[in-house]
Amino acid sequence: MKYISTRDKSTSVSAAEAISLGLSREGGLFLPDSVPALTKADIEEIARLSYPERAKLIMSRYLEDYTEEELGSFCSKAYGENFDCPECAPTVKVGDKTHVLELWHGPTSAFKDMALQMLPYLLTAAMKKTGETKKVCILVATSGDTGKAALEGFKDVENTKIMVFYPSDGVSDVQKLQMQSQEGENVGVIAITGNFDDAQSAVKTIFSDEKLREELDSKGWFLSSANSINWGRLLPQIVYYVSSYADLVASGEIGNGEEVDFCVPTGNFGDILAGYFAKLMGLPVGRLICASNANNVLTDFINTGVYDRNRRFYTTISPSMDILISSNLERLLYLLSGDDKLVARLMAELKESGKYTAPAELMEKLRASFAAEFLDDAETKEVIGRVWREKGYLMDTHTAVAYGALEKYRKADPGRTCVVLSTASPFKFTPAVLEAIGEDGEGAGVELIDRLSSATGKTAPKNLAALKTKKARFSKIVEKTELLGEVKDFLR
Ligand SMILES: *Cc1c(COP(=O)(O)O)cnc(C)c1O
Repeated sequence: MKYISTRDKSTSVSAAEAISLGLSREGGLFLPDSVPALTKADIEEIARLSYPERAKLIMSRYLEDYTEEELGSFCSKAYGENFDCPECAPTVKVGDKTHVLELWHGPTSAFKDMALQMLPYLLTAAMKKTGETKKVCILVATSGDTGKAALEGFKDVENTKIMVFYPSDGVSDVQKLQMQSQEGENVGVIAITGNFDDAQSAVKTIFSDEKLREELDSKGWFLSSANSINWGRLLPQIVYYVSSYADLVASGEIGNGEEVDFCVPTGNFGDILAGYFAKLMGLPVGRLICASNANNVLTDFINTGVYDRNRRFYTTISPSMDILISSNLERLLYLLSGDDKLVARLMAELKESGKYTAPAELMEKLRASFAAEFLDDAETKEVIGRVWREKGYLMDTHTAVAYGALEKYRKADPGRTCVVLSTASPFKFTPAVLEAIGEDGEGAGVELIDRLSSATGKTAPKNLAALKTKKARFSKIVEKTELLGEVKDFLR
């Protein structure tokens, strides 16, 4: 299996090269040139395996240049004691035909751990395989959760450094302290004035700075990304769709072969794209429902075919989805059209005017697999409160956006069993969650962790409960124009 670029399909690199490069030279994203098949018998087998074994089975089909031994060892380290339950990603029944896939049992209580506990192993092995002798510096623009999960994944990993940039007013108190208090010798954390898109485009500019590339090269460094543009970030996310499906079959909730919908709280389109890969492999997925908050650029795109980022940016109670440029949508456009020229043209239009219109045939194909709904903050809180009162299930704000989106979707198409992806622990977004269940949400986010515990009788994840005693190590705030200097300083 080779990997091609979405903007030039004549590109042909190995999995290790795709992972170590992150982004293709001409700016495209890497995709495998074929999709391995998953059979009914595979599902039966997977149902009997542990989570690390499931991950090894699925990932090995995409990573032909990694050995079984390597992958076995990576998977048992990435999905081991660092998770707070042995299933790693349990599927919990919340209502009739409605299940929640909890993806936040990792060390930072966000679904990003599912990929970022694995990526450092894939990346450092990829560097060895491709004969890369330089050290790698990971640069991350984060809307909150990626930053902490990447820091935790890469901390003290040999031959790596990691620097994280977050929008100073775009993350929750808990997220901020999680990052500011990060331990490790090879880490850096800086706040940028502006929103997530400002942080993301500033980091992208650094990646495409040829002069900087040469300068760092001569000093023995190269830059890489832990954002979901890296195939090594996306691949581990395919696993939990298959894993959840296998669990539903094993518990008798569905028959093997029965179609299931997945409803996904979406920002950069990485999570939901992994679900589309699971579907392409042959997992019986009906529709993938793309759930957005008030930044509903994807809802509009899926419903109209026009992608237009020229709109008001909202800071919402689900900040990890406050995104107007969803990088991974580019991969879907390629998968649906197979047309690298078209993708290159649409992406150039997006860069130039912030807008493009996808061809009608492409959109028709897209709508066969995807639907889209969005919720504003008031609707999101209503969902959290109601589901807590009626079902005793406590959700974070991102999960609630998806849960509410499913309710809207079902008005038109009520049939199938659906799995709602739960992407963060409710204890990461305490002010909004407390208010939503009718409690006082005033106060510093970190102190509210105890309040949410006593109001609900739920135990906070250990890493979050421990924040109380943590001190901020990193508190620098810079303008986005100062990023380049910061990176150079960090690698001096
Ligand atoms: C990152 C994130 C999302 C969005 O996932 P994408 O892969 O960027 O679409 C949703 N919820 C939470 C809590 C996240 O951290």
